[in-house]
Formats: sequence, structure tokens, C-alpha cells
Amino acid sequence: MLGNATLDVIQRVARLPLPGETVLAQGLTRCAGGKGLNQAVAASRTGAATRLAAPAGRDADAAFVAAALRGETGLDAHWLLCDAPTDMSAIWVATGGENVIVSSAECARSVSTDQAQDLCDTLTAGDVLLMQGNLSFTATRSAALAAQARGATRILNTAPIAWDMRPILGLFDIVIANEGEAELLARGSPSPAAAFRDSGVPIAIITRGARGALIIRDGGETMVDAPEVAAIDSSGAGDVFAGTLAGLLANGAMLSTAVRLAVNAASLSVTRPNTTPSFPSRAEITALMEAIS
Ligand code: ATP
Repeated sequence: MLGNATLDVIQRVARLPLPGETVLAQGLTRCAGGKGLNQAVAASRTGAATRLAAPAGRDADAAFVAAALRGETGLDAHWLLCDAPTDMSAIWVATGGENVIVSSAECARSVSTDQAQDLCDTLTAGDVLLMQGNLSFTATRSAALAAQARGATRILNTAPIAWDMRPILGLFDIVIANEGEAELLARGSPSPAAAFRDSGVPIAIITRGARGALIIRDGGETMVDAPEVAAIDSSGAGDVFAGTLAGLLANGAMLSTAVRLAVNAASLSVTRPNTTPSFPSRAEITALMEAIS
């Protein structure tokens, strides 16, 4: 896993504030977060040996984030120290689950192409590299190229879209996008399926919130339904999906089984508040595996 790590500061509000308005929060949670870190946590809970490489500042927030990962069995964190403050996400979650997030990304953007390449030069065939959109275009491309040269499986979760990802989509074996991202990436194409095919993506997965996920491969589409749940907070659901999927594939699962499990794991996470605190535990993932296989 090569991606970002943040301190998440989550405030629960009755409703999201309008521009210029101040509202009082009903609760405050501080936890480790960031798409790279979240997805590494989710991957390690499948039992896959997981290595997270993420940038962090030289400050108390970095120590907080590192401490939060110490209890994660099978997750090895490698910190790329940078001089910027540790990245932070300010998250507001309204009653009903709607959220608004502002993330800083100075540390994430500081990862160099050399660092990305050196980290991925240690990969071997059978390894899975999972990345997201927080690092720069050049660092992401450099990591993907190095992983490709080593024969590792490359997965890109297109969140967040902060730069044009289309030129490098074809470097990945699997691209995971939510519906909004898929629509953006498909601008100018007749459909997301056509856009991914034309970009040279062998397998695309579009997550569809309460409706589950759509697998697009070999010119066909397969829908994987999500279970009906009482959703209260969807923040981090996409990360549970991507991390669980990558972990299961690294452990040798078939794609269709891995997607079903990832959908169910993500759907479980939306029934509980906050980001990493809502993620299914290793025991819950094991129980889901037994129920599904
Ligand atoms: P987020 O940005 O909130 O982390 P996302 O936009 O990346 O999420 P979604 O497509 O909304 O991703 O959700 C990912 C997965 O989470 C879905 O495939 C589904 O399994 C689960 N999920 C999300 N919302 C719901 C819901 N309301 N009910 C059941 N499952 C859900």
C-alpha cells in the first residue's frame, strides 16, 4: 500500500452548515485516517500481510497516527518523513450520514518519484500494490511502472480525483471508482465501460453505494448487490471496499468472491459511525468469509 495517512478530526452535526454559518457539533472524534492508511487497515484485517508506506510530518499528529496502527496485527507501517505538517482531514457528518470532507495533502504531495519507485522496486510477482489519488501524478505513475516491471498486481482506487488520471489508468490491472468518479473519468466517452476499455483497464469496478458494486471485464458487466442495512455513516466505506478487495486478492481469492466480500464488509462499516473505528474487525471479516464461501 502506497498512499496517504491523516489525522481525521470528525465532528457530528445535526445538519451540514451553510456557507458563513456556524453550527455546534454534537460530538468530536480524532482517529487515524487517510485513504492509504484506511485501506491498509482494511487489507490487513483480511489476514493479508500488509505494508503501508505513507508520508507523515515530524509532529505530534504523526505520533498519534503511528500509535493508532500499533494494535493492527499484520500491518507494517513505513513512514516517509516530510517537513510539512502531517496531513489532516476535517470531516463533518450530518445526522443521516451525509458528509463533507476537506483534506490537506502537503505530505502526500511531497512523495517523490524516486521514493515511489524505490518502494515498489521491492515488490515481487504475487504482491498487490494498492494506490489512491492522493499522491502526485508523477509519483503514482512511477510506482505503477516499477510494480509493473516487478510483475506485481496493480490496483488503483480513483479517489480523490485531484488530477487527470486517464493517462495512467492503463498501468493498473484493476481500477476501482465510485459512481461520481466513474462519470468524471468517462467524460467524452459513451459510457464508463467504454472509457475504461479505451484506457486499457482490464478490470474496472464501480461502487454504487447502497446498490453494491459493478464489475466490468471482458466486455461484460456483473452486478454485486449490497445487503440492505441501516446506514448511518458512509465515510470510509469506499476504503473498506478497496482494502478488503486488495487483501483478499493478495491471499489468492477469485475476483468475484473478493468483490462480494468487499461489498459486504463495506456495507457493515456504514452501520457504524466514523472512519477506521467503523471498519469490520478481523473476526468479522472471517465470519463474512465463512458466510459467503
Ligand atoms: P465513501 O466516499 O463514503 O467512503 P464511496 O463513494 O467511495 O464511499 P460507495 O460506492 O458510496 O463508495 O460505497 C462503497 C461500498 O460501501 C458499496 O459498494 C457498498 O458495499 C457499501 N455501502 C455504501 N453505502 C451503503 C448503504 N447505504 N447501504 C449498504 N451498503 C453501502
